[in-house]
Amino acid sequence: MREIKKVEEKETAVTLSRFGVRPLSHRVAIYQYLLGTKNHPTADTIYTELKPSLPSLSRTTVYNVLNHLCEKGAVRRVTIEDHESRFDADIRDHIHFKCSQCQQVFDLFEVNFPRLEIPEGFSATSVQVNIEGVCPHCKSGR
Ligand SMILES: [Zn+2]
Ligand SMILES: [Zn+2]
Repeated sequence: MREIKKVEEKETAVTLSRFGVRPLSHRVAIYQYLLGTKNHPTADTIYTELKPSLPSLSRTTVYNVLNHLCEKGAVRRVTIEDHESRFDADIRDHIHFKCSQCQQVFDLFEVNFPRLEIPEGFSATSVQVNIEGVCPHCKSGR
């Protein structure tokens, strides 16, 4: 068990290096957590989840690490919430669907990501497509 975790950590560190991120321990831990979840967690959730196993972790560190990972392109900031950002380690173009009933954020890969023609002189660095609605689970009322 312990061995498996070590290998994963090493791979995560290598991936981070490819993004030009120095794989410091907190960065590896936060990135690894994001890779292992589909929930698009907020900085607060990440902090709460990792704190027990990383007692030296502070809220500020989590925010700083997330900003750095976003700057380097390893992680995407998902601005689907008015009050706080969520984070996603899946950097492929995809659409986010937020269910207004269960509050879950789903990844939609089956929908074509739009190609946008933007006016000359503007250069886009990222495009986000967010949809709000009701997910199949809530719709069926179960
Ligand atoms: Zn739902
Ligand atoms: Zn996503």
